[in-house]
Amino acid sequence: MPLVTSKEILLTALENHFAVGAFNANNMEQVQAIVEAAEEERAPVILQVSQGAIRYAGLEFAASMVKTAASLVTVPVVLHLDHGYDFEQNVLCLRAGFTSLMYDGSKKPFEENVAITKKVVEIAHIAGIPVEAELGRVAQSTDKLSYEEICALMTDPHQAKEFIELTGADSLAVACGSVHAMKVQEAELDIDRLKAIHEQIPHIPLVLHGSSGVKTESFLEAIQHGICKINVATYLNQAFTRGLREAVAKYPDEVDPRKFLAVSREYVKEAVREKIRLFGSAGVIDSRGGFRSPARQFRSVEIGAAE
Ligand SMILES: [Zn+2]
Repeated sequence: MPLVTSKEILLTALENHFAVGAFNANNMEQVQAIVEAAEEERAPVILQVSQGAIRYAGLEFAASMVKTAASLVTVPVVLHLDHGYDFEQNVLCLRAGFTSLMYDGSKKPFEENVAITKKVVEIAHIAGIPVEAELGRVAQSTDKLSYEEICALMTDPHQAKEFIELTGADSLAVACGSVHAMKVQEAELDIDRLKAIHEQIPHIPLVLHGSSGVKTESFLEAIQHGICKINVATYLNQAFTRGLREAVAKYPDEVDPRKFLAVSREYVKEAVREKIRLFGSAGVIDSRGGFRSPARQFRSVEIGAAE
């Protein structure tokens, strides 16, 4: 089916206490693995590309691959910009047919974050496309911050309410203890803070970044308190690279890259399947592409509307 926006998927997830997996992809094998796993699991899925992925694959390639992958399946697929750091990138992605945007002004002062988020929301909403914003900052593992420093960056619940009122953003990435690009699952989320944020903005789907490093029990609890979209990148990269390493070791004389990449694709697919099941989004989509309960059809968005 054609790409859909993230709006209804996330609101349905919010109402029904499950989370939609938002999986990062940089190449064809990753895109195929993610979409095939979602199709088999009857789950809605968000395929997201970062600015780094756009630099690597090219904006047109990224958009076309995801559009093609979506057209081959009967579950809703969203094409989302992950961490758009400026207004321009958001405009370019809107033009390229992305069905969900993110402006990340979390490193900027509050007023500036508000001003640019608001500008992105204004143009995106004209085209019917929702926008994720970020308040508080989800740190990078390379920042090597202490626990106290991570806490200082966490989202303030009252400021979150003010931020949503001022910007009109559709969903909010919150900082509540996770860290980007962690290779081991040892972080615990500040569930009380999450509850307080959810109480302030109960109708806004919350987004968890840096999930690869979060303990399973912790993010399962988070799903009960407003987390509707969970970003997964590092965990999939680990699966891809493990497949590649094993295949190269197993077939040292092989020169056909397909032999290696097919193993990587299979490993990523299984990693996606595992996360979809954990997040509670397996089996929610019926054979016609709508939600099983409540029965709801998606408003489809054709990619390339700017042509
Ligand atoms: Zn992130």
